Amino acid sequence: MSKGNLIIVSGPSGSGKDTILNELFKLHPDIEFSISNVTRKRREGEGDKYHFITKEEFLRLLDDDMMLEYNEYLGNFYGTPRLPVEKAIEAGHDIIVEIDVNGAEKIKKKMPQAISIFILPPSMEILQNRLKRRGTETDDQIDDRLTQAKNEIARISQYDYVVFNDELSDAVKDVEMIILSNRMKYKNQQQTIERKF
Ligand code: ADP
Ligand code: 5GP
Repeated sequence: MSKGNLIIVSGPSGSGKDTILNELFKLHPDIEFSISNVTRKRREGEGDKYHFITKEEFLRLLDDDMMLEYNEYLGNFYGTPRLPVEKAIEAGHDIIVEIDVNGAEKIKKKMPQAISIFILPPSMEILQNRLKRRGTETDDQIDDRLTQAKNEIARISQYDYVVFNDELSDAVKDVEMIILSNRMKYKNQQQTIERKF
């Protein structure tokens, strides 16, 4: 059996990563999602996207080498648990990690075969409107996220693919296409081909 692929998805807060991925998982329930450990507070109505833990718990996991990467973002820690990612890849499943640009850079160094996708909003103005409409942050927090967005977009060249999230259905199709064509790369099918022929 061929190994699974690691897919990194990044993009400014409010660019639509969650919305796109939720639609993608409806179409492809076989694709796994890496649930990050985070020390920030749960937003109202936020489901099981994260393991919400204390800073002490986070630091302990880090000490025990249980995280593939981590980053501090606006005063909170966010990290990717190592074992679920390794297990999914070994089991032949694709797994998506939704992480920031610093985390993406760290993972690409450790696992250069990972593919990376950056989600862009149609414009900064629309990003601001979407964050406001989402209504999960205060105006000050939105300002911080917009500043952070500019810093992240400045590092977009480190990504393999860029998807504009204008029409949601188009953006979902674009991400789907990238993941499916990656599966068809020769090196990702080499083991299966050698076994069969
Ligand atoms: P992220 O996960 O990147 O922080 P979200 O998925 O929470 O972003 O999206 C931010 C807001 O924008 C949400 O309220 C979402 O419903 C809305 N949104 C996402 N994609 C689109 C789109 N293509 N068109 C209009 N609104 C969108
Ligand atoms: P939010 O607070 O909006 O959910 O996430 C803030 C930022 O942290 C986003 O850019 C998101 O992609 C990133 N993030 C979420 N989980 C992780 C993680 O495990 N590692 C890293 N490095 N960033 C993460």
